[in-house]
Amino acid sequence: MQSLWERISTDNAEIIAVGTELLLGQIENTNATFLAKALSDLGINCLYRSVVGDNPERLAQAIERAGQRSDLVFLTGGLGPTQDDITMEVLSKVVGQDMVYHEEEFRIIENYFKSQGRMTAPENKKQAYFPALSKIIPNPNGTAPGAMVPWDKADKPTLFVVLPGPPNENRPMFEMTVKPFLEPLAPFKFHHTYVRLVGIGESDLIHHIPDLLSEEQKNPTVAPYASLGEVSLRVTYKCKQDEEDHESSKIIEILQERLGQYIYEIGDRDLVHVLGETLIHKKQSIATVESMTAGLLSATLAQVDGISEVLRGGLVTYQVRVKEDQLGIDPELIREYGAISPQCAEAMALKGRNYFLSDYCLSITGNAGPQGQEDKPVGLTYIACAGPKGVKVVEKKLKGDREKNRLLAVKQALALLRIYMMDIGD
Ligand code: ATP
Repeated sequence: MQSLWERISTDNAEIIAVGTELLLGQIENTNATFLAKALSDLGINCLYRSVVGDNPERLAQAIERAGQRSDLVFLTGGLGPTQDDITMEVLSKVVGQDMVYHEEEFRIIENYFKSQGRMTAPENKKQAYFPALSKIIPNPNGTAPGAMVPWDKADKPTLFVVLPGPPNENRPMFEMTVKPFLEPLAPFKFHHTYVRLVGIGESDLIHHIPDLLSEEQKNPTVAPYASLGEVSLRVTYKCKQDEEDHESSKIIEILQERLGQYIYEIGDRDLVHVLGETLIHKKQSIATVESMTAGLLSATLAQVDGISEVLRGGLVTYQVRVKEDQLGIDPELIREYGAISPQCAEAMALKGRNYFLSDYCLSITGNAGPQGQEDKPVGLTYIACAGPKGVKVVEKKLKGDREKNRLLAVKQALALLRIYMMDIGD
């Protein structure tokens, strides 16, 4: 007869995040997001997600309900030494296992404190108690060890995987101990490849690939996601644990044939990293002159490691006088066309390129809202890119609130730089 551990299965999973802070909206439930993605990568279906506060009755109900309907239940949070850290204790009651003291775990906790130059408090002893059938999950980055606790129910056992709340603790614990344990149990895994596009909207995009998005396209599947100013396609191939993914590349080839001019990345990098790394690689310098976005574009470029090699600097020329006095834009030009105009955007980029002596200069001028300006509607934005081949200007009618319009303007400026650098039409 199979042992309890041998009967554990991973057909369906769920996640319970424990903590009143989460219920009050004081912290984001990023643990659930991380675990959901990690389970999906392992090919394990996650069917439910819930949040429960530090209340013993409600936590017990949540654990009982999850244990009855799921084969694998993740619990995160509430493993600390204080009185409101109750996860392990409540779980032990639900599964009917006594809490057992593990002297060796307490020594590890003591050593952890010593390595931090601190003394172990008497309350920390609590963190060395686990439900009787637990397998302990070591925590290299904190005091609270986790545990895998099997619940031997009438029909099919459930495995509870209990991890501490802090992401810098539970993520390495998942990677080092939980994932290697689950991998051989999960019959399938998913390979995800992300194809990232800019310059095309989601509704336009789906007209190019109706066949790939249809029900007939079974494995790999293709799913579109729209995010701020761009769209991604997730290509997912489901296969056996030991199988390689030879199929996704065929789909990606088709995507490249049909949508190549919009694809800026096949992988995980975002637009600013792709462009920043290209500039660094080509040793081409860049500068910015911003009105509406007041430095957001240069701050975005500064997210890229090593960008100081190529990002010369940026000017924030918010008011008309600064555009004229500091940048030297002809007051006549602004009087005739206004500061929110293609002429002004063009002059900003050209003057900025001369000022910084850079290969490229991006400029942004527009109305982020909420009120109209110079009789120009909210969202009207002009973006220019000056470079070795002259200057290119685009008009955008952005459709967000003030914050979103500023972020969209930055995305559009980066999209224009990409088009300019690749010498493709928009
Ligand atoms: P500790 O040993 O640090 O007390 P714990 O297991 O008791 O850990 P909690 O007290 O519930 O965990 O949470 C500690 C911290 O972990 C929270 O303040 C928060 O920063 C983070 N945290 C907890 N739950 C989550 C979650 N679901 N998503 C992201 N972060 C979380």
